[in-house]
Amino acid sequence: MIGIFGGTFDPVHYGHLRSALEVKEIFGLDEVRLILSAKPPHRAAPIASIGMRLEMLQLAVKKQPGFIVDTREIARAGASYMVLTLESLRQEFPNQPLLLFIGSDAFNKLENWHQWQRLFEFAHVVVLTRPGHRVGQLEPFFIERQTTHQTELKQELAGKLYFQAITQLDISATVIRNIFADRRNPAFLLPDSVIAYIKQHKLYQAHNVH
Ligand code: ATP
Repeated sequence: MIGIFGGTFDPVHYGHLRSALEVKEIFGLDEVRLILSAKPPHRAAPIASIGMRLEMLQLAVKKQPGFIVDTREIARAGASYMVLTLESLRQEFPNQPLLLFIGSDAFNKLENWHQWQRLFEFAHVVVLTRPGHRVGQLEPFFIERQTTHQTELKQELAGKLYFQAITQLDISATVIRNIFADRRNPAFLLPDSVIAYIKQHKLYQAHNVH
């Protein structure tokens, strides 16, 4: 099984890395692909260039077996729609279940995603919730696809909806950018190699209203 974890990674931090590692262990994934969103369609343009966000992500996972930095959205023209990414992954991995991980905030806005129903043609969708979180009333489309059996994710290639509680560190890239802009110490929020890169390239020196 292959896990898919998308983000702008502006910059990557331990919130992302810790949850990617937890899901890799929980689901026994062969690999977790960190998909760098080159031109995110649902948010303001990132601050760091695509090349720099890529280098930071590569530094962060360099020594982590099974973590793969996936650059397919960079090569593609136009907005970075996840449905196109999944379609391309499905072509590359025709016989492996694909698990798309999204946060519960993203799940609540899933219906704004381009061709969101088609995500389920190519992958299972796993919603990462905070421990103790209760799933609210679901639309019939989701009820039909929901499973509470992890084994079903292995038995089929795509099409299921599954909720997984994980410990989510309360870290965001926005807070980290502000720490750099304020010249405060970002230690323990993201890898030292990424901190060194940001300082070397004088990234995030100004506040940005996002
Ligand atoms: P920003 O603050 O710039 O919006 P972010 O920290 O939320 O950035 P993104 O790159 O936008 O990071 O998020 C990528 C993915 O990582 C999303 O699916 C998001 O739900 C998830 N994510 C972000 N922060 C955390 C965290 N602290 N713990 C677990 N998952 C996270």
